[in-house]
Amino acid sequence: MVFAWIMTIKTALKNQLQQRFAHRVRFDEPMSGHTSFRVGGPSDAWVAVTDESELMSLMPLLRDNGVPFLVLGGGSNLLVKDGGFRGVVISMAGRLTEISQIGIEKISAMAGAKLNSLCRYAIDKGLAGMNFAIGIPGTVGGGIRMNAGTALGAMGSVLEIIRVILPDGKNLQLKGSALLFDYRRLSFPDAVPASINDCVIIEGQFSLFPGCRESLTAEADTLLKNRRAAQPTHLPSAGCFFKNPENGEPAGKLIDLAGLKGLRVGDAEISPMHGNYIVNRGIASAADILSLMEIVRETVFKKFNVILEPEVQIVGI
Ligand SMILES: Cc1cc2nc3c(=O)[nH]c(=O)nc-3n(C[C@H](O)[C@H](O)[C@H](O)COP(=O)(O)OP(=O)(O)OC[C@H]3O[C@@H](n4cnc5c(N)ncnc54)[C@H](O)[C@@H]3O)c2cc1C
Repeated sequence: MVFAWIMTIKTALKNQLQQRFAHRVRFDEPMSGHTSFRVGGPSDAWVAVTDESELMSLMPLLRDNGVPFLVLGGGSNLLVKDGGFRGVVISMAGRLTEISQIGIEKISAMAGAKLNSLCRYAIDKGLAGMNFAIGIPGTVGGGIRMNAGTALGAMGSVLEIIRVILPDGKNLQLKGSALLFDYRRLSFPDAVPASINDCVIIEGQFSLFPGCRESLTAEADTLLKNRRAAQPTHLPSAGCFFKNPENGEPAGKLIDLAGLKGLRVGDAEISPMHGNYIVNRGIASAADILSLMEIVRETVFKKFNVILEPEVQIVGI
């Protein structure tokens, strides 16, 4: 009886999604096609929203039906488990990928824009301040959510304004200076009526400063060259798997010192090139990657008494 009730709700919601999004909704969509790890089971539904108003009506629809959602950027920091995601995965397309200059030293980027496109756009406009992010895959929204960055800077340092859609579909604008940016993490202050986990970031406005286009281009080229030389960017991965511990050696160095480089579980491998990269050598499953993750955590803890925390967001069942 209960099962039948759940199925009815599910079918009704499916129909509504189909009506609203037509070919932009897919059911039982394999997430392996949407993540840089190339792993992940099916999500109940995957929807590509193309403008703000669609998102403003989708959010209360999901909330009222008690359906969980996962915002998908470029999928470059996500490990979706093999059983997939029970709920709706929201991707951004169309107008939600636009980038524009909105002031002499200010750029707006919608959350679905590629972070690298934002970096290149800034260079093209002769604006400096975004090069720290050159080569980081994924979207502006994912970058803000993860406070993505490198030794040269992080998203929180250039973000002036953020716009989010709340669970009730309302639009909220917040100053970057009011947000709580931490190492690979963003949270909202208590005054905001929802957690970041329940919201969708739709736009970031970035405050930059004048620079020379030629030297910014040269700097970007050098940074990309260095990245390619030090990281296995040619293989599927989610970048650095673990956060660097607050004190002491970085995670990659600890993994290297523990002798774990090259270790494999199935097709999941600790990259021989960079200890903090788990790469997919072919047909790794999420379970392979998670087993390897546990071996690394146990070994590093036993040898160095350090608990490594994943930087990669692990979702699904
Ligand atoms: C080869 C490689 C190199 C990398 N190098 C770096 C690096 O140098 N520095 C670094 O910081 N990271 C790096 N990463 C990790 C990753 O690229 C970043 O964390 C990136 O910012 C994630 O963006 P994304 O759009 O792919 O997010 P996703 O992986 O799609 O999502 C990550 C998280 O953000 C949430 N999210 C995404 N979009 C939104 C939104 N619009 N609103 C609300 N929540 C959202 C998701 O739900 C999820 O929780 C690397 C990854 C790879 C594969």
